[in-house]
Order: sequence, then structure tokens, then C-alpha cells
Amino acid sequence: MANSDCYFCIVKNSKVAISLGTIGNPFGCCQKCHSLTCGSHGDRLPHNQFMCLICDTTLASTSSAAVAETAEPEESPADRIIREDEEVKEKIIDRLSLSYNPKTDLLVSSLDQYIERTSRNNREKLNDFRRGHEIIWTEERYYPSLRVSDITFAQLRAAIESFPPNAKDLLFAAVLLVQRTEVELKTLYPDILLDIADLVIIKPMRENNDE
Ligand SMILES: [Zn+2]
Ligand SMILES: [Zn+2]
Repeated sequence: MANSDCYFCIVKNSKVAISLGTIGNPFGCCQKCHSLTCGSHGDRLPHNQFMCLICDTTLASTSSAAVAETAEPEESPADRIIREDEEVKEKIIDRLSLSYNPKTDLLVSSLDQYIERTSRNNREKLNDFRRGHEIIWTEERYYPSLRVSDITFAQLRAAIESFPPNAKDLLFAAVLLVQRTEVELKTLYPDILLDIADLVIIKPMRENNDE
């Protein structure tokens, strides 16, 4: 094949109705995964890097894992229960980090920093979330066949709730972006992110009168 096409449109067969860049003439090349993408599957970021939609969104979840990983562990007696909780937390952090290994200087440490760096499309989707949000966990959506089935619902919830606030904000921002993805790319996100997206309802704060 002589032409280069958008990886997501062609290889993943996820063609979008309106696509910037034409067949044989992609819009840009993701600086993280080096996929060529059309303008619907990738965008130029404020700092002038070009990133595909998957890398742009998983930047938030991987950054969340990095923040959670480096957080000071609470001083507490190392009894069995706490060790088990820590193991679950490490498992979650590992799986959230998958798509960005090895760690890069692209990672961010807060939601504000992520919003500064992400594409305009993602930024707009996070506007209401940024003002404040409520997280509702829905245990009835937890099936044994879920991709995280080696972690119970209670463990998953407790581990994520124990993340530092910046890590939680970044993780739930990524979850919201996955939930708000218009294009059929969901299978490309890390399994753990998809599972969390199935298990939580995020209620962003909406302003009543102004704006
Ligand atoms: Zn495309
Ligand atoms: Zn990419």
C-alpha cells in the first residue's frame, strides 16, 4: 500500500463521518505512539505536540497512576489487611500505567495541568467536570466476567478512593472522556479504565444561571 491512512480509521475500522485529512493524507502523527491519524482521531495540543485521541486521554489515567504511586504512604502498622490493600492498589496502578510505559515527561501532576495540555475537544468535555463533580459507584454493574475480575468491587472502589485528590481527579477525568468518546475506539483503552468507566457514574456540577 503506497498511501498512508489514519491508523484508527483504516486499521481499527473506526471510520468517522466527518474526517479532517483525507485518505492517503493523514492529519498528523501521534508523538507518543507514532500512529498517523485523521483530525477526528488526533489533534494538535496547545504545546504544539500532535497526539492521537487514545494517547491524549490515557495521558490523564497514566498521570493519575504516577501521582498515586509517588504519594507518600500513610504511616500505619503493616498488618495483613493493609498489605493486601496495598497489593490491590499496586495492581490498579500497574494496569493504569500500561499504555504509557516507560514513563515520559509528558505526564502531568494535576487536572489543571492536564487541561492545559490536552486537545481542545477533551478540554471542552471536561469544563463542567472541572467545576466539581460527584462520583457514584454502581456495584450492580459489576459482573464476575469483568476484565478486573481478580479485584472485587469493594477492593477496586476502596483502592481508588484512597488515591490522593489529584490522582482521583485525573483518573475520573479520563473515565469521563472515555464515557464521552464519540468514536468507536473503546477497545483500545486500557481494560481497567474501561471497567471503571462501566462502574461509575460521574455527575459533573452544572451551573444554574451564569455562563
Ligand atoms: Zn481517523
Ligand atoms: Zn497515540
